[in-house]
Amino acid sequence: MYAAGTAVLISTLTACSSSGGGTSAASQAPAAPSAQASASPQAAASSAAPQADAAAWAKWKLKPLPEAPAAPADKPIKLTAKGQVPVFSEVPTKDKIVFVTIDDGAEKDPKFVEMLTDLKVPVTMFLTKDIIKSDYGYFKPLQALGNHIQNHTVDHPQMSKISPAKQKSEVCEDQATLTEQYGKAPLLFRPPFGDGAHTAALNTAVQECGPRAVVLWQESMQVHDMQYQTGDKKLKPGDIILAHFRGPSELHGETMTEMFGELLSRIQEQGFAVARLEDYIQAPAG
Ligand SMILES: [Zn+2]
Repeated sequence: MYAAGTAVLISTLTACSSSGGGTSAASQAPAAPSAQASASPQAAASSAAPQADAAAWAKWKLKPLPEAPAAPADKPIKLTAKGQVPVFSEVPTKDKIVFVTIDDGAEKDPKFVEMLTDLKVPVTMFLTKDIIKSDYGYFKPLQALGNHIQNHTVDHPQMSKISPAKQKSEVCEDQATLTEQYGKAPLLFRPPFGDGAHTAALNTAVQECGPRAVVLWQESMQVHDMQYQTGDKKLKPGDIILAHFRGPSELHGETMTEMFGELLSRIQEQGFAVARLEDYIQAPAG
C-alpha cells in the first residue's frame, strides 16, 4: 500500500512518544455541563475553516485533504475552571476528523511556515521554553494562522522523576513565558513522553499553573508513517496525532515539510480531514 521505504518505521525516533500516549478514556472530561451560559471565548471564531485551493496542494505535491466540518457549537469536551483536570488522547466525535499536534519546537524551518500558510491545515503547538527561547518569533506567524500554542514544560523532563515542586515550576514557568511571548495563556498541557500524565502530583501542578486539561495522543508521526496504539493501524474519528518540529538530523535526512507532507498523505489515504483541536474544547466560562 505504501512505498517501500515506509516499511521502515523508525522506532528510535520517539523522543516524545516512547512511553505512549494511550490510556484515553480513563479520566475523560467531566460529564456535568459546566457552562450553561456557554459564552466560550473560542465559540465566536468557529465557523467553517478556510480551505486551501487545489493549486496550493499541487505546489506541495499533495492530494487535497477532505474539508473539515464546521466546528461544533456544542463542544464535545468541556473544561471546568477548578478541580481535577481531565486527561485525554482523543475527542469524542463521529466525524471523520483527526487533530494534529506538534511538539517541542526544535526545528524552525521557514518552509514549514510557508507550507501551513498555503495549506491552512490546523495544528496545535506544545512548546518547550528552553527549546524555543532562541527564537520565539518563529512560532508567531504559525500562531497568526489561527493555531494555538500550548504548554510543554521548561526543559522537557520526565515529570514522574522529579519532585512535585519541580513539576509545578516546569508547568508554571512555561505557562508564564508562553503567555508573555504569545499573548494568550495556554489552556492545555502535555507532559514530555506522556510521562506522569495520570499522577496526582502532575494533575496538581497543572491545576496550580493554569492549563485545564492534559492532552496525550493516539498516533505518533515518525518519518514516513505513524506509530499506532492499536493493532489495526487505522485512524479513528477524533484521534489526536503527535508530531514534532524536527529537521534532517532527526528525520534521517528528511525535512520538516517532507515529514509533514507524508503525515498529511497518510491522513488523506484514510479519508480523514484535519480539524482544530481547540474548536472541540470548551474553555471554562469566565
Ligand atoms: Zn516533547
